[in-house]
Amino acid sequence: MANLARNFFIGLSNNDFLNKSARKFGTRFGAERFVAGTVFDAIVPVIRELNQKQISCTMDHLGEFVTDRNEAVHAKEKIIAMLRQIKEEHLDCHISIKLTQLGLDIEESFCIENVEQILDVAHACDIFVNIDMEKYIHYEKTLEILKSLRKSYTNVGTVIQTYLLDAEKDLSGLEDVRLRIVKGAYKEDSTVAYSSKEDIDKNFLMIAKKRLLGKAFTSIATHDHRIIQELKEFIEEHHISKDRFEFQMLYGFRVDMQHQLVKEGFRFCTYIPFGEDWFGYFMRRLAERPQNLNLLMKDVFYT
Ligand code: FAD
Repeated sequence: MANLARNFFIGLSNNDFLNKSARKFGTRFGAERFVAGTVFDAIVPVIRELNQKQISCTMDHLGEFVTDRNEAVHAKEKIIAMLRQIKEEHLDCHISIKLTQLGLDIEESFCIENVEQILDVAHACDIFVNIDMEKYIHYEKTLEILKSLRKSYTNVGTVIQTYLLDAEKDLSGLEDVRLRIVKGAYKEDSTVAYSSKEDIDKNFLMIAKKRLLGKAFTSIATHDHRIIQELKEFIEEHHISKDRFEFQMLYGFRVDMQHQLVKEGFRFCTYIPFGEDWFGYFMRRLAERPQNLNLLMKDVFYT
């Protein structure tokens, strides 16, 4: 049943017609619980409030699988404007980008040019840029582009998805790179990804521990309290300094736990998605946790 629901919502997340139609309306169907808004100006007070609570943020201007050049250029311009505003408003905030939003499916060199322009501005503003990891068909290309960008830029990193069979192998060569560790949000074939929660969690813990013992900064991105607890014990046991890693969670998820981790003295970063392209993101959140649907139903019927 859980698998059926997951496949249903993942199917909706990939539906081009629904994604395009949803743009015409603001966030709907309770998506505003997980998507902070459609324009950056409206999100600035949200970031400020989180910063005041010692929570830093990473901003995702939503959009992916872009096939139109103008749309990719428009996305790049919006991201650059956001970087300048983050700097001007002194926000404690970095950004997360997706290569398919910046033209990876159109032409690789065009996408790289867009990313380089973003990285130039980010570098001038002293802001870190994280390249989100998307579906497996883009995985190897994303790592290749990241490694090539790292020859000129130090302010860029990416994500390792621990559902991938090759995740541990691919850590090598990324020892100096700031990485976010996640379980993985897409539906992948069993030839490339683990499907059981047990295997994915085991791989997450192994990879996170390996990174915590390494030299580069690591973002541990999960809402899984069991994983967080085991890593907290590991961190204490190995006397790992709290400035070498952070916990990350998505906006609107386990807010009490976000605050509790800050209270315990851990660095914490909230991933804030915003923009008109909210539909695919929202459907993936419903796919990974059908209980999110229950929360939304409660909002609809009890508020
Ligand atoms: P799950 O396996 O979903 O949950 C584990 C357990 O935690 C559940 O069984 C439940 O007991 C508890 N739990 C989880 N959520 C809740 C909740 N809301 N309330 C109460 N209990 C809960 N994926 C990508 O593929 N690419 C990316 O670039 C990417 N970036 C991400 C960035 C951040 C900051 C985060 C947090 C996730 C990102 N993801 C990304 C998504 C990620 O891959 C997972 O799909 C998503 O985080 C769900 O997995 P989980 O680790 O939270 O644990």
